[in-house]
Amino acid sequence: MEKMALIVQKYGGTSVANLERIKEVARRAAKTFDRGNDIVVVLSAMAGETDRFIELANRISHSVNKRELDVLLATGEQSTVALLAMTLESIGYPSASLLGHQVKIHTDSFFGSARIADIDSDNIKKLLGQKKIVIIAGFQGCDQHQNITTLGRGGSDTSAVAVAAAIKADKCEIYTDVEGVFTADPNICSKARKLKEISYEEMLEMASIGAKVLQTRSVEFAKKYNVALHVRSSFNDKEGTVVLEENLITEKMVVAGITSSKNEALITFKKVPDTPGIAAKIFKPIAEANIIVDMIVQNSLKDQQTDISFTVPISDFKKAFELSEKVVKKIASQEVVGDKNIARVSVTGVGMKSHSGIASTMFSALAQENINIIIVSTSEIRISCLIEAKYAELAVRTLHTAFNLDNDKSNVSLYYGGKKTAPKITAKS
Ligand code: ADP
Ligand code: ASP
Ligand code: MG
Repeated sequence: MEKMALIVQKYGGTSVANLERIKEVARRAAKTFDRGNDIVVVLSAMAGETDRFIELANRISHSVNKRELDVLLATGEQSTVALLAMTLESIGYPSASLLGHQVKIHTDSFFGSARIADIDSDNIKKLLGQKKIVIIAGFQGCDQHQNITTLGRGGSDTSAVAVAAAIKADKCEIYTDVEGVFTADPNICSKARKLKEISYEEMLEMASIGAKVLQTRSVEFAKKYNVALHVRSSFNDKEGTVVLEENLITEKMVVAGITSSKNEALITFKKVPDTPGIAAKIFKPIAEANIIVDMIVQNSLKDQQTDISFTVPISDFKKAFELSEKVVKKIASQEVVGDKNIARVSVTGVGMKSHSGIASTMFSALAQENINIIIVSTSEIRISCLIEAKYAELAVRTLHTAFNLDNDKSNVSLYYGGKKTAPKITAKS
């Protein structure tokens, strides 16, 4: 007999897209409950609802009051939790829905991208003690002034993991529209393979650069509080992907995944005098506006002049460009230009710490497709190239093949450590 556990299940937008799907969620939750488990369900809004609300607000103004926008956005999750509670009642399962402020999910006051500060687990535990299935609205919390806040797009993942950490759940299952975490977005790369396991570190990198299957902050939380995360499909019962500590992974892959994202824009200062202090003048106003600059490159040119390029989140592009235009004359740069038609394509894997040749394989594969690399950036376990946006999908498929990740191949050099040892390990310089 299975041991009773405390389980958090999170269902995303497509998993609660209509009443039929909500009935499926109720059935799965009821089955878990019938096995003697305590269960907390965290829900997203119905697929497309959050986008619809944003679009409605944009029709009023492009700069609506952020507090009011969060009041509006939070209604998406308010609807689904009530509908699931009603559905569970109708099939004889006692349940109770809780909104962010009813749980007491405390956040800071950054409307639209609030961070969870702490979660009061008393109400959840009280309801679990009454043998109820507890249903929590994801994506929302409240600040110290009782304002409703939201946690950024995809934020229900973070709600679920944070709740799991707060109540010390045995596991946190993330139910979505794909069967787990794949070596590339299965909607872009048909040859992507499902990973049985992935480390927090790799998942964190992949999420932050395009794998939206988990919100980056949810992985940060899971890693910090050691929450066992299980990504699965709400459409079937297949084994999903477990996200866990690197040392617990049995099949360690050199490259775990290829991602792409079109969430950045490029700003280039042309013909900047190549003298000390110029870079500081360019980046100071941008930093003061709280805009995160990521990839930076400086090309040396003739006559003591240089081009300086960098990327910013696409949502901050307008502001960053306006600030840059103010700097151009001050630093005697020829001009500043912006480009939103760019994409970042990345290769991620903890195996990079011990394997050489990843960058050269990546550059050669892109070159063979005539894809020009604008900027390169690296971390210990990731290499990213900035390319023209129109090549993003082609680049993902090309790199997937180049790193032997295609599901029609069974190349053992994919793995290192454990039983499937990679052929040769060369220290990375
Ligand atoms: P939910 O609404 O359930 O939160 P999301 O749309 O936020 O679902 O995330 C699931 C989507 O993430 C998938 O449909 C898929 O297109 C995308 N995705 C991107 N990269 C990956 C990846 N490496 N593995 C799995 N899914 C990915
Ligand atoms: N409904 C929110 C969104 O669409 C949160 C989520 O789905 O996780 O971003
Ligand atoms: Mg999501």
